Amino acid sequence: MKIDTKDFAAVFLKGKIDEYLEGIRQEYNAVSETCASLRKQLAEYNKAEEVASLAKQLNQAYTHSLCQLSDVEKKRLEKFKSYHYINCFNRGKNEYYDYRLQETGIGTIIVVTCPICKKYADITDVDSW
Ligand SMILES: [Zn+2]
Repeated sequence: MKIDTKDFAAVFLKGKIDEYLEGIRQEYNAVSETCASLRKQLAEYNKAEEVASLAKQLNQAYTHSLCQLSDVEKKRLEKFKSYHYINCFNRGKNEYYDYRLQETGIGTIIVVTCPICKKYADITDVDSW
């Protein structure tokens, strides 16, 4: 029996083309579902509600915090902690610092102490008062 190589190639290619088309169709359907889902999410998105929710979270973080560090105070604290991280091995799961906050009426004095070496630093940024 003689096999016609042209027909075999045509059948083989037809099968491959069908396979590729099926893959493309499945991908198209998945993208279409994602698109519909995103359109629904966009239609339901309420910017004012989202902003109000974020403002509420921000306000809660502000009102429930003992103190708000200025950028300068944050840098001073990081420098202090970095020094004691290296020199006192105040690090890892046992790492901690003692903080003293003193309200003055116009601002808060912030003093941080390393419990290992007992050194402390006043990191207060009086310019931010
Ligand atoms: Zn220390």
